[in-house]
Amino acid sequence: MTSANFVVHADAIIPVSGTENVLKKHSIVVRDGVIAALLPSSDARELRDVDHIDLPGHALMPGLVNAHGHAAMTLLRGYADDMSLAAWLNDAIWPLESRWVSPEFVRDGTDIAAAEMLLSGITTSSDMYFFPNIAAQRLRAAGLRAQIVFPVMNIPTAWADSSQAYLDKGLALRDHFKGDDLIDIGFGPHSTYTVDEAVLSRTAMLANELDAAVQIHLHETAAEVHAQVEATGERPIDLLARIGLLGPRTQCVHMTAVGNQDIATVAEYGAHVIHCPRSNMKLASGACPVKKFKDAGVNVALGTDGAASNNRLNGLAEMQAAALLAKLDSGDPTALSASESIRMATLDSARALGLDHVTGSLEPGKSADFIAVDLSEINMAPNHQVESNVVYASSGTEVTWSWVSGNNVVKNRQLQHLDIAALRDTAALWRAKLSG
Ligand SMILES: [Zn+2]
Repeated sequence: MTSANFVVHADAIIPVSGTENVLKKHSIVVRDGVIAALLPSSDARELRDVDHIDLPGHALMPGLVNAHGHAAMTLLRGYADDMSLAAWLNDAIWPLESRWVSPEFVRDGTDIAAAEMLLSGITTSSDMYFFPNIAAQRLRAAGLRAQIVFPVMNIPTAWADSSQAYLDKGLALRDHFKGDDLIDIGFGPHSTYTVDEAVLSRTAMLANELDAAVQIHLHETAAEVHAQVEATGERPIDLLARIGLLGPRTQCVHMTAVGNQDIATVAEYGAHVIHCPRSNMKLASGACPVKKFKDAGVNVALGTDGAASNNRLNGLAEMQAAALLAKLDSGDPTALSASESIRMATLDSARALGLDHVTGSLEPGKSADFIAVDLSEINMAPNHQVESNVVYASSGTEVTWSWVSGNNVVKNRQLQHLDIAALRDTAALWRAKLSG
């Protein structure tokens, strides 16, 4: 464990702020959990009242922000693959969840997710799942920063038996974590096809009153949009706008099935888009037109979605997928550069969660949330460009150290608050249960 005051020396720093994309031979100075300075290493080595950590061959960068996930679903990883979203939800995932989801399921699944996320560079994660109280506790205990968006649905589940119960329990959770330095609680209405207009309107009223974040799956597939238009004559995004659920605190997850008018509406209301490229590709949902959204002035964040539809919760892999998919989808190799992908996975994702004043870039005064990426592996050689290597050449296992609020959570590839061997045993027990 490092002390409250320490300096990390590395070959390069990607600050995601200021005028330089990459600072060579620089160091990060941390005091009481906060970034005190980024200094040339020759100066930082002179500091006497701090611990010194030397990471030759490494780049330091902000911890990655996973803007959308369902952590506990790691227990369903690989359970149902190669299906459409509708069949996957209706025939595989929802029946299994209705039988098995419990506080223990969420505890164990979230711990496994936390381990995978931390080891791939994620230091902040957003989570939407049942028993959000358990997810909040477990992510915090693992050392992560988190936005927890409590689910809101019309469908009764083990966590809540009515839409009112979802809201009541969620609001109690919000009260419980009020003022917490690592946990923020927002609203997570699942989608416009699982939450009726009355409940969405009530959610809008409460969220506006509390100035709280709202995260919702939206325009995930063409079929979803088509069904809503057939039933009501209105597109999902227009429904949100009409009832007051679309605004600068709204996080629209997926947004693959969109036209130019939908993009203009998101821009007009100042809402955020959360892009989940690997989940969208695997379910063949479509591709979020990232470049069009960005050209319209919309902030686009990055998320893994759950391990049941990804099947990884790997921050580096998701960034790589975003950069590649943006080029394929637009036919433009300049659509999302390595540098822009890194920004999407860090500062832009923090901004979507309303946390950009705390995390997402390496600047004095911000929380010391940062990671070390090993650039010395053969898959990175000869390391012409640091950002290019991190995005295009990484295999997802290069993160060696990680700090959240100055707390050392990964040290030389070892998790400091989770026991990997025990988690493997726990996962095996669930495999036996779920397949039985
Ligand atoms: Zn999702």
